[in-house]
Amino acid sequence: QLSERLLMIAQNIPVGKRVADIGSDHALLPSYLILNEISPFVIAGEVNEGPYQAAKRQIESLGLEDKVSVRKGNGLQVIEPNEVQVVTIAGMGGSLISQILEQGKEKIDQLERFILQPNVGVDQVRRWLDQHNWDLIAEEILEEGEKIYEIIVAEKRRGMEDPVYRSEKWSKDELYRLGPILVKKQSEVLIKKWMIELTKVEYILEQIKNSKNEQEKSIKEMQLNHEQKWLKGVI
Ligand code: SAM
Repeated sequence: QLSERLLMIAQNIPVGKRVADIGSDHALLPSYLILNEISPFVIAGEVNEGPYQAAKRQIESLGLEDKVSVRKGNGLQVIEPNEVQVVTIAGMGGSLISQILEQGKEKIDQLERFILQPNVGVDQVRRWLDQHNWDLIAEEILEEGEKIYEIIVAEKRRGMEDPVYRSEKWSKDELYRLGPILVKKQSEVLIKKWMIELTKVEYILEQIKNSKNEQEKSIKEMQLNHEQKWLKGVI
C-alpha cells in the first residue's frame, strides 16, 4: 500500500521511537509505522483542513486513535515538549521544509533524528541542517513513477563539523547540491538526475540562441555554459 518513497522513509526510522510526521496528508506513513510496530506513537501534523480531515478519517477507519494523534497546526507547532524523538517531513519543497525547521527551532533540541524528503531545492535543506549543527548520516535516491526523489537523514551534531562535507574535489556549496553521501555512491539514479539537469540546460541554451536581447542573451549564455561545464564534471 505504501509507495516506495514512503517505505524508504519508514526504513530510516529506528524501531521504538516516537515520531511526528509533518504534512502527513492521508496519514499513510503514521498508519504504516503503527501497523508494522515500528513506532509506539505517531503525531500526524497537518496545516490544511482537507488533508487534516483525510488523516483523521484514515486513522479512525483503522481504529488507531490511541496511537496516532492527528493534529492541526503549522509545522512543528503540533509537537509538545519531549513528545517525539524523530520528525519526518516529506513531499514538500526544500524552502518550505527549511522554513518549517527554522520556525520550529525551539522544538528541535529535544529531537534525535530528521528524515526529510524535499521534492525540489534539496540543497536548501542540506544547508539549513549543516548551519544548525545537524549531521547527515544517510542519503537515499530513488526513482518512482517517472520522478526522482532524495531522502535525507540527519542527526544532531556530535563533533565540530560534519565529516561528510570533507572533500578535496567539491566545495560545500557544490556538496549541498550534490549530496555528499550520494555523490560518493554515484548510483545510476543519481547520474540520471544530473543527466536530466544537463539536458534541460542544453535545451535552454539552444532556445536562447533565438533571443533578440543581445545583452541579456550573452549573460544567460555565460551562466548556462558555466552550469553545463559543471554538470558534465558531475556526470
Ligand atoms: N507527507 C506526505 C507524502 O510525502 O506523501 C504528503 C505530502 S503532501 C504533497 C504535502 C502536505 O503538506 C500537504 O497535505 C500540505 O497540506 C502539508 N503542509 C504544507 N505546509 C505545511 C506546514 N507548514 N505544516 C504542516 N503541513 C503542511
